[in-house]
Amino acid sequence: MRGSSVDDRKGYRRISLELVLTKKQKEILINHAQSNFPNESCALLFGTEESGTCTVMDIFLAKNTDDSPINFTISNEELLQGYQEAEQKKLDVIGIFHSHPHSEAIPSLTDKKFMVINPVIWVISNKHDELRAYILESSVIQVPVKIV
Ligand SMILES: [Zn+2]
Repeated sequence: MRGSSVDDRKGYRRISLELVLTKKQKEILINHAQSNFPNESCALLFGTEESGTCTVMDIFLAKNTDDSPINFTISNEELLQGYQEAEQKKLDVIGIFHSHPHSEAIPSLTDKKFMVINPVIWVISNKHDELRAYILESSVIQVPVKIV
């Protein structure tokens, strides 16, 4: 994500992050999760980052090619399509969403592994339709979610 690498390199404490999404966007993600139940669902979040405020502008719903209740994979083709679409819209891929239909909205060990490769905000929903957001810095930290 833009803006963070300079601070990291200098060893400064990174500016605190916040994820902003609209009620409608939350609804889209929760509906996506419900329509994929009992399997995990996934999506890319397009948006902008400014001074630590990550604002979701668009959502790219993806297919979980694992068809699994405990894992998800977005195919390389769909990832490429997602990144191209973000670029066309002059937005960044600021987050990855997936659902935990049967557990808490906390990153699993597998999630943590992939958070290393995909250092964006990870948004996870649980079966109670609650959203939580995380980012991996030196450890996984929770990012406040603001619904507007
Ligand atoms: Zn997960």
